[in-house]
Amino acid sequence: MPRRKKRRWVFLDLYERGVGGNVEISFDELEALRLADIEGFNQNEAAKLMGISQPTFHRILKEARRKAGLTILYGMGYKLKGGDHIMRRFKCYDCGYEWEEPFGTGRPETCPKCGSANIHRMDPGRGRGKGGRGGRGGSGRGSGGAGRAGKGAGRGMGRG
Ligand SMILES: [Zn+2]
Repeated sequence: MPRRKKRRWVFLDLYERGVGGNVEISFDELEALRLADIEGFNQNEAAKLMGISQPTFHRILKEARRKAGLTILYGMGYKLKGGDHIMRRFKCYDCGYEWEEPFGTGRPETCPKCGSANIHRMDPGRGRGKGGRGGRGGSGRGSGGAGRAGKGAGRGMGRG
């Protein structure tokens, strides 16, 4: 026999939808959201990847989810904010050198050690689960996908 769906109650009111405005979301919040909710790492793994403690990760993730919710429910946009304590890792595939760059300085074009252009962003999340959205193309484009949306964030290629 057909199972009846049990009723559930929702107290949500979407009249406020479209209030507009922006929430400011930081790059580490987005990363936490990606690692935990998109890539499926557990909080301990994800915290380790980001170099922070699990409670800190939890706090960041919670904030990220709140902001993600605001954008879905109320149609708010989001604005990225960076912070020079947010680091990215790169690796040179020619000499094997690994180094860090603060977020927001643009993508380095050559290896600081040997000058090779054969460098790659190190990203523990990508390539895990299956497929995702493909597009690996070495061009280094998409690497900052989200960065593009942010105002000042990924701008201004300081190539030091
Ligand atoms: Zn190198």
